[in-house]
Amino acid sequence: LLEADRRYVWHPFTQMKDYAERDPVLIERAEGVFLYDADGKAYYDTNSSWWVNVHGHAHPRIREAVNRQMAKMDHVMFAGLTHAPGIELAERLTALTPDGLTKVFYSDNGSTAVEVALKMSFQYWQQTGCPDKTTFAYVEHSYHGDTIGAVSVGGVDQYHSVFRPLLFGAHKVPSPDPRGRQDGDAEAAAAQALEAVRHLFEASAGEIAALIVEPMIQAAGGMILHPASYVRGLRELCTQYGVHLIADEVAVGFGRTGRMFACEHAGISPDFLCLSKGLTAGMLPLSVTMTTAGIYDAFYDDYAKLKTFTHGHSFTGNPLACAVALESLRIFEEEGVLEQAAAAASHLQQAAARLAADPGVAHLRGLGMVAAFDLYRDRDSGERYPWEERIGFRVYEEGLQQGLFLRPLGDTIYFWLPLCTTAAQIDDILGRTEKVLQRMSR
Ligand code: PMP
Repeated sequence: LLEADRRYVWHPFTQMKDYAERDPVLIERAEGVFLYDADGKAYYDTNSSWWVNVHGHAHPRIREAVNRQMAKMDHVMFAGLTHAPGIELAERLTALTPDGLTKVFYSDNGSTAVEVALKMSFQYWQQTGCPDKTTFAYVEHSYHGDTIGAVSVGGVDQYHSVFRPLLFGAHKVPSPDPRGRQDGDAEAAAAQALEAVRHLFEASAGEIAALIVEPMIQAAGGMILHPASYVRGLRELCTQYGVHLIADEVAVGFGRTGRMFACEHAGISPDFLCLSKGLTAGMLPLSVTMTTAGIYDAFYDDYAKLKTFTHGHSFTGNPLACAVALESLRIFEEEGVLEQAAAAASHLQQAAARLAADPGVAHLRGLGMVAAFDLYRDRDSGERYPWEERIGFRVYEEGLQQGLFLRPLGDTIYFWLPLCTTAAQIDDILGRTEKVLQRMSR
């Protein structure tokens, strides 16, 4: 199989050089927090398989929900037809998410949930007498997906530079990254970043449709934590200057940060909320873009076709995926997932502190079931690993030896554990990580 994989498969985010250096791990089975390879070796899935498996793998209730729904109806289109799983999920989501988000638009991955929010915001202003609002604002180091629209509002150069000629221009505002400050003061970094947004809006709000942000944690851009005051400040500025706020909770939604939704830390409601990944607990592809009745109503028109939101995917509102998402939400409720995860998260944050004993571990940080640090050659002198040494790739390789599936972001090592991870498993993961760090030569 690996021979055929090498010959026929083009994996995402893989350099051709990686194929020459090592094959991907051939996984045969996954259960709970573990992945098992073809030889039966177990690996901790430390990133919940790209941040989606909130309840771990092979949850029996999720499997049953698929089978139940499968017996009735697998896929039907969602224009001109509707169905109970799609209706019930929309109703449930509007009850669970921050106030005011009463309309649910389905698509099937995080990037398109973002794309939909951008297009809806853009069209909203076009049909409400603000035709100059044709651009967007985004935060440095942000990642919102891989479609051209999502890439246009992304702030990680590596993902964008090659496509630059295709992208629409958007305004970049600084990230409140406390790592860039001598005093490491996150609140001061947030205040400074908000000033930059105010400055931008003073000059250009008339041409900005929306500002998009990953609330509380900028994930793919390096696990950068933001204080709640920053998210609150963005909400206030967007309201004051008439700019939509798009909260991209594709990664941080569904309990990841210790709250069901990250916006809850700041007590705010965005104008658009994008959800995916944990929505189906990793079982099936599904995403939603949620918005307000006020925005939805602006798409109403007596002559129908003038204000149609012309967008819809083949797999929109897939009944299997909606049934699974509903079951996942029931699991949250009936199995006390958030309470269990809160205890696990507090254990993770306390236990991770011991990693700081390693002289290469810098900027240890965490929130909820996320912990991260940057790996330096020497923290005290501030010496980092040069890019060519590909320290992240070496950590990944050594992690596999130690039974950990780790996917560093450059030299940022992180844990994004399933919410069901136990305290004993967390200790085991950290113990194995210490061994990985010891093996990195400095
Ligand atoms: N937004 C954020 C914040 C993400 O982390 C991701 C995926 N890593 C996306 C959007 C894109 O989601 P998808 O990969 O499902 O298209």
